[in-house]
Amino acid sequence: MDIKRIDKYIFSIKGKNVDAIVFTDQETINDPEFKEALQQIVNVTHMPGIVAALAMPDIHWGYGFPIGGVGVFDAKDGVISPGGIGFDINCGVRLMLTSLTFEEIKPQLRRLVEAIYDAVPVGVGASGAVKVSAKTLRKVCIEGAHWAVENGYGFKEDLERIEDTGKLSPANPDHVSSKAFERGLDELSTLGAGNHFIEIQKVERIFDPKVAEAFGIFEGQVAISVHCGSRGFGHQIATDYIQIMRDKLAHHNKDLPDKQLINAPFEHPIGQQYFSAMNCAANYAFANRQMIGHAVRMALLKIFPTAQVWLLYDVAHNIAKVEVYNNRKLIVHRKGATRSLGPKNPLLPSLYSDVGQPVLIPGSMGSASYVLVGTKKAEEMSYGSTAHGAGRTLGRRAALRSLSYEQVLNELKQKGIEVMSKGKKTLVEEAPETYKDVDRVVEIVDQVGLSRKVARLVPLGVVKG
Ligand code: 5GP
Ligand code: MN
Ligand code: MN
Repeated sequence: MDIKRIDKYIFSIKGKNVDAIVFTDQETINDPEFKEALQQIVNVTHMPGIVAALAMPDIHWGYGFPIGGVGVFDAKDGVISPGGIGFDINCGVRLMLTSLTFEEIKPQLRRLVEAIYDAVPVGVGASGAVKVSAKTLRKVCIEGAHWAVENGYGFKEDLERIEDTGKLSPANPDHVSSKAFERGLDELSTLGAGNHFIEIQKVERIFDPKVAEAFGIFEGQVAISVHCGSRGFGHQIATDYIQIMRDKLAHHNKDLPDKQLINAPFEHPIGQQYFSAMNCAANYAFANRQMIGHAVRMALLKIFPTAQVWLLYDVAHNIAKVEVYNNRKLIVHRKGATRSLGPKNPLLPSLYSDVGQPVLIPGSMGSASYVLVGTKKAEEMSYGSTAHGAGRTLGRRAALRSLSYEQVLNELKQKGIEVMSKGKKTLVEEAPETYKDVDRVVEIVDQVGLSRKVARLVPLGVVKG
């Protein structure tokens, strides 16, 4: 690989149609562990109509495209690729803020974790989901979080605090297979397993008092984050369209450096159908996080009836969107990457227009998580994108080999973190040791200016699938 250092935390790697740009430190660029992921972002530069191939400091290996990757294509000559979005379409995270302080909830912390665990179906094949008819599921596909609010899961005020108000178009359910529909009928309001979580957090430190105030964040405040996506519904849609592209677009895809980069020209009917089906899955995920968020809010209010709980923001981090930069219509794939919009961006709701978009970067159940703010610089340098997490450093299987359930549980207990998980395996696979140092990752995005630090949060209690 022909790597050049452009700036302290910016590297370019020689690519085919464009060079790949990687936002990271010297250590990661040289680390053999991330070599495969860096090769993946270089592979993306071979794709038709590529405008930019970027990697964030949380980069790690993924299906075709790396996680922590951004693939920007021309909407006219470019492509849309399921691997650039991920199987968990619109996996994302929301952060809810409360009027409560850590001191107030401390004596009830265990009870609160248990109440949340009881209120939200977690794990694989969780029962207690909100079951819907096929007719209703069609509505969910089109209306997303708006459907959830109209049906009693939350309030109108929540919607402007969701990326794109939790409703994307075009989203035509006719482009979704019956198999996906079957899987989607009984998984709404469920968290899923593995990397998905609900976490009670405490605001430990404020970096930017002005923006923190605009966001309603204060030191000692209790916050709750929810991380999940489109469940089996989105997974099936990704699987279906990868198969369709293999069957029907073999000639178009014959020269790819990696088969997993399979794609469709964006303007081709298959590209358009996948885009529409992907938006259905994205809307399903928005509805899902809205329903879970509301269940969490109700569980908290049962214990603390006078508290206030509101949504700060809900972001997608596995998605492709049509966006315009420099008067050029582009299809921006963010896979394990968060949108980062600066002040006055017309896509922002008026309540965040003066300061910029809230950006959420979780770390792990044993380390910090961050609230940041979007920047103009991100709009100029990374097509409005930033990191989405700490990023994995240890694979799931390797974690199971080197750590035990008791070990992980003990470590968290010693830190005073209350944990409830459906599966023992999940807890080991998701141990804090399996993720990169989130403080480091956030430092890099802050220094480069892809988003700026606002507050650091630490975990108090975690619910895992
Ligand atoms: P992903 O969407 O790639 O699975 O996860 C996004 C990020 O969430 C990961 O890179 C990791 O840093 C973070 N993460 C995973 N599990 C937890 C957790 O239990 N708590 C928090 N705060 N962050 C987590
Ligand atoms: Mn995710
Ligand atoms: Mn996910």
